[in-house]
Amino acid sequence: LPTLGILGGGQLAQMLALAALPLGVRTVVLEPDPQAPARLCAEHLRAPSTDPAALDRLAACDAVTLEFENVPVEALARLEGRVPVRPGGAILARSRHRAREKEALSAAGAGVAPFVPVETGADLPGALERVGGRGLLKTSELGYDGKGQARVNSEAEVCAAWDALGRVPCVLEGLVPFEREVSLGVARTPAGEVAFGPLVENTHRQGILRTSVFPARVPPGTEARARDLARRVAEGWGLEGLLTLEFFQVPGGDLLVNEVAPRVHNSGHLTQDGGGVSQFEAQVRAVLGWPLTDWAPLHPCAMVNVVGTPDGREPDWAGIDALSGTRRHLYHKASRVGRKLGHVNLVAPDVETLRARLEELERLVP
Ligand code: ATP
Ligand code: MG
Ligand code: MG
Repeated sequence: LPTLGILGGGQLAQMLALAALPLGVRTVVLEPDPQAPARLCAEHLRAPSTDPAALDRLAACDAVTLEFENVPVEALARLEGRVPVRPGGAILARSRHRAREKEALSAAGAGVAPFVPVETGADLPGALERVGGRGLLKTSELGYDGKGQARVNSEAEVCAAWDALGRVPCVLEGLVPFEREVSLGVARTPAGEVAFGPLVENTHRQGILRTSVFPARVPPGTEARARDLARRVAEGWGLEGLLTLEFFQVPGGDLLVNEVAPRVHNSGHLTQDGGGVSQFEAQVRAVLGWPLTDWAPLHPCAMVNVVGTPDGREPDWAGIDALSGTRRHLYHKASRVGRKLGHVNLVAPDVETLRARLEELERLVP
């Protein structure tokens, strides 16, 4: 049986492992946290991601993939050349660093928000003017779920945010007046075959993804544009494996790429229950170099994230279970404010029913 190594053992690894199993694929995760979600459904190598013996075990797999982009360079160096690592180090180097990522996206022909890399305090004066007078200062590395970023409306606020973020390398981005946010997964096999996931519409709350909906409510031609951009990135960057693009759709319909995740993405979780191939299955297949088709859901579907709240209030599980077409996906994590603990997928026979039930579902998830 083929064996797939996964760097990281969080919920994405849990769901990759669950998708791999019925394909006849065993998984091995490298993850130091003894309580990590994937421990329950994969072989768990409980060691730091630089541990030589654990990396030797991964090198004995048929291929290695990852569930987070901040894999130490030394770990990759120890794996590459011994086992296919997909996506590889060159893509990770871009997608873990916002300024480099935006430069590489532009080089591939994709539009991005106006931005100024801020490496030192000397880059601050005049930077806000150059991105349009209002923006977000984001740390170049390690940010997620809106952490490591601040809205800024004046030069004084930029300086205060730079201090508050710890004076680490950042990018200052212009505030994009988007009409909606959408995302799209793309996979490319080692043979160069490209396939796409569904175009999904996303809403955020306090910087954290709240809902994803398929199909996205977008002007005609949007999906073709998103696919064209995704193909450019996949081919231009020499992707092997799967990555997900987050887009802003601006008035007039153009798409700007917000950021790229070199992996399955929270907005793609609805593919687990939409009746088609899931993004997790797609990643497993792409990484192993198996034939691949597009993985759009066959039915309208949506997802609501379950995020830890300050008062620790739980979702109304009985109400959720009583709502037709819902399915729970929990990550076996202790509750903490702002922490993603699980998600609920919803599938419905038509778009109107989906929207009505999604409203009900949202009322049941604090
Ligand atoms: P993720 O969890 O998706 O990795 P992140 O911490 O990397 O999140 P971003 O995706 O950069 O953060 O931003 C989070 C959200 O903040 C975006 O989805 C969008 O709603 C808003 N946002 C980010 N950048 C901009 C921008 N330049 N203009 C307007 N809104 C923005
Ligand atoms: Mg991000
Ligand atoms: Mg994002």
